Amino acid sequence: MAGIAEAAESREWFLTAYAPDGVPTSDHLKLRTVKLALDADSIPHQHVAVEALWVAVDPFIRFMMNGREDGLYFPQFDVNQVIKGFGLARVIRSTDDKFSEGDTVIESFLPIAEYSVIPTASLRKVDPKAEIALSDYLGPLGLPGFTAWVGIELIANPKPGSTVFISAAAGGVGMLAGQLAKFRSCRVIGSTGLDEKVKLLKELGYDDAFNYHKETDLDTALSRYFPNGIDVYLDNVGGKMLEAVLNHVNTGACIPLCGMISQYNKTWTEREGVRNLMNMVGKSVTMQGFLVSSYFDRFGEFTEKMETYMIDGKIKSQSTIYHGIESFLEAFASIFSSSNVGKVIIQVRP
Ligand code: NAP
Repeated sequence: MAGIAEAAESREWFLTAYAPDGVPTSDHLKLRTVKLALDADSIPHQHVAVEALWVAVDPFIRFMMNGREDGLYFPQFDVNQVIKGFGLARVIRSTDDKFSEGDTVIESFLPIAEYSVIPTASLRKVDPKAEIALSDYLGPLGLPGFTAWVGIELIANPKPGSTVFISAAAGGVGMLAGQLAKFRSCRVIGSTGLDEKVKLLKELGYDDAFNYHKETDLDTALSRYFPNGIDVYLDNVGGKMLEAVLNHVNTGACIPLCGMISQYNKTWTEREGVRNLMNMVGKSVTMQGFLVSSYFDRFGEFTEKMETYMIDGKIKSQSTIYHGIESFLEAFASIFSSSNVGKVIIQVRP
């Protein structure tokens, strides 16, 4: 947009119906064009008008459109309202002294829209380092990186030599979690759903990795990959994999429950149960669910460390990039398959 326009045509994704189960489709999410007033009188006090630059396609969005609060207990999007997710945007007009035109900002609940007017209360300015791509502030330096850091560093805190297993290992969180566990001299093994991602994980420093789609019996597979048992399991998928892991835990094992993406498109009565929780008793296992929002007081410390790792080339990451706001639905559906590598992000504006 040249200069500061008084109004903008903006395409935005809105919820047309809740999706209690299944992968959301165009029956639930639609794109519409709205005209947004951007003149100074139309921006309330302590708000900014922004144009979206990058949007992260995060699994938590699924929990805000199933029409009931469970699992993450996030508030539901309202029908007919624009949906939101983690995003990077550029300020084009501000009524808050702390933000100026041209600032790059990050917002956890940015409207999935080309333009929007949003409150500044939870907005954070981003001062990107020259050596780091802006989109990395949604990946290694954003929600996935922070989640990996909380799961490995703060919750699991594995000792050198521990055996660490990570599922959805080639996703945004898993890719980074494995590298963090390697810094602690652990033996790290990941599962993923494509052979090319198995190869990538080994290139990223994982000691081993396997394609779970090719394993007919997960319990047998884990016996093969973990002859000495599992000390830490960062669970990103839940369901059958979590159950199989519980047959292979060592005494004192720690299981940070990060997410359960294999179960997100099912109502709770349809989700897979875990039949062998009793193993946790005999093996004194700690299983801890967590939301990174409870750890935001450590975000500064995390950012400092992760930026250094990245500038020093110690941490590598990959992402799958979709282009244009119109790609959101396709990009969103893709995270419930094995088709993508790393974090899925949308470049809204070049
Ligand atoms: P992501 O980059 O979008 O990766 C998702 C991956 O999950 C897919 O690429 C796929 O990889 C795997 N997957 C999809 N459907 C599956 C199924 N039915 N069974 C097994 N695997 C399946 O996700 P992410 O951002 O890394 O997030 C990973 C997990 O962390 C999610 O469960 C997410 O909800 C959770 N999370 C938690 C927090 C928190 O605060 N606790 C914060 C962020 C994310 P493969 O099939 O190839 O393995």
